[in-house]
Amino acid sequence: MLRLRRHVYLDNNATTPPSSAVCKRMESVLKECYGNPSSLYRSARDAAAILEESRISIASAIGAQPEEIVFTGCASEANNQILKSFLSNPPLKRNTVISSPIEHPSVMNALLHMQSFGFNIVFCPVDRNGRIIMKELLRLVDNTTLLVCCMFANNEIGTIQDIREIASIAHSNGALVMSDCVQALGKVPVDVKELDIDYATFSAHKIHGPKGIGALYVREGSPIAALIHGGHQEGGLRAGTEGIHNIAGFATAAETMVTMLAKMPDILRLKKNFSDDLLKIFPQIESNSPSDNCLPNTISIRFPGFDNAEFIGYLDYHGICVSAGSACNTQENKPSHVLKAIGLSDDAARETLRFSLGANTSERDISYSIRVIHDYLTAKSLPVTMFRPAQVDENLLFNEKTYVLDIRYRYDRKLLKGLPNSHEVQLFFLKRYLSQIPKNKFILIACQAGTDGPLAAYYLRSRGFRNVGFVAGGIVGWKLLRPDLYEKLGGAGTIQLKPEE
Ligand code: PLP
Repeated sequence: MLRLRRHVYLDNNATTPPSSAVCKRMESVLKECYGNPSSLYRSARDAAAILEESRISIASAIGAQPEEIVFTGCASEANNQILKSFLSNPPLKRNTVISSPIEHPSVMNALLHMQSFGFNIVFCPVDRNGRIIMKELLRLVDNTTLLVCCMFANNEIGTIQDIREIASIAHSNGALVMSDCVQALGKVPVDVKELDIDYATFSAHKIHGPKGIGALYVREGSPIAALIHGGHQEGGLRAGTEGIHNIAGFATAAETMVTMLAKMPDILRLKKNFSDDLLKIFPQIESNSPSDNCLPNTISIRFPGFDNAEFIGYLDYHGICVSAGSACNTQENKPSHVLKAIGLSDDAARETLRFSLGANTSERDISYSIRVIHDYLTAKSLPVTMFRPAQVDENLLFNEKTYVLDIRYRYDRKLLKGLPNSHEVQLFFLKRYLSQIPKNKFILIACQAGTDGPLAAYYLRSRGFRNVGFVAGGIVGWKLLRPDLYEKLGGAGTIQLKPEE
């Protein structure tokens, strides 16, 4: 069995490492330009100058005018701001928003919010590749359509949409067009004027910039309202003292984006080698990503018969960072809405992993990953034991050799009771509590919905715990399949581990 040798980061759609140019710029701005850009003296004016220069850089990276850029706390906020703008000033007669069923949750949930205010939200179907079916869009858009909202590139499967065509259909019916360009930026050229869109959103941390800063493009003259009310910052559209270091970091990332774009052909070649090699070691794999018009760095792959939660834990054990195709929320183990929209069953979605390569991915990273994946797929036994929820019974729970470890987050514990006699510590603090966990017992790990358990189990294995297992599906699964035990024993005798001195 291989042991941890390399750190391989294949999750660049989740976030990218900040570049050294970005870190350097941010540090200097943070130290030397701490003035509040709204103040009147010289050092504050220096900060205001950085703010405006950064706006110019970002505008020019996307083909916009500086006045059309509003800085926000993140792209989720930017998406919310556009959509919720329509709540404060609904245009007469038009109250339908047409979107795709594969949008990011910051769009999806804001759309649901609009729906609760009486807006008619319609999802245009996508094909097996996640591409908007234009015939359907043509049928749906009419003179009641307020907005067509469609992401440029999908974060899970990499599908690139024909935004120009979508915009043309929308505009010819007098509707506005919004596109979440978060994943496209830095991977394919983005020019908002060429795309002919009215709104677009961006996030710095996907292009080697800092987290906690996003931007909103609003075409001059398009309606927009503040989401956060307060001071006059950002022309009254986003109150709050500007994080100049973050904004400057974003601008540096945008200025160096040409380098990122220039690396994409190499990244695409690596991705192709990776998928060819995967096919050689496991011909049953199925790609959920389109073969053309796809982000060069992204590939979503189904491994029939292999649960993605455990797979991710195993890869993490070997230093490889990837994501599931499925996003589990805290209460239910929900398969990815994107994979469902392109026709995958719940089970198939739970067998899917997303690999997103980046500027730092090397050939050795790929060959190492292939070796680890091959070992996993062919292993006769694994370093940790998986328990189906139905197997988690009184014999296991009350065995004197069993030590139950509940790694759920505080807010999850409020939603569901835990296994009896659990020792509670939140996953992200686990490393601080290791000395309190007995090495001579069998450690049974329970998380909320099945994603974190395998990660924690593999982590403990890597820290010298020899007998470790986890409850597949977590407490959600246990409650579902053993409602009798959940009612009778749930939450009994739990112990909170104490922080170490
Ligand atoms: N839109 C897409 C397509 C994304 O992938 C993400 C981030 O994962 C976001 C929006 C949200 O970006 P942020 O993290 O800046 O809120």
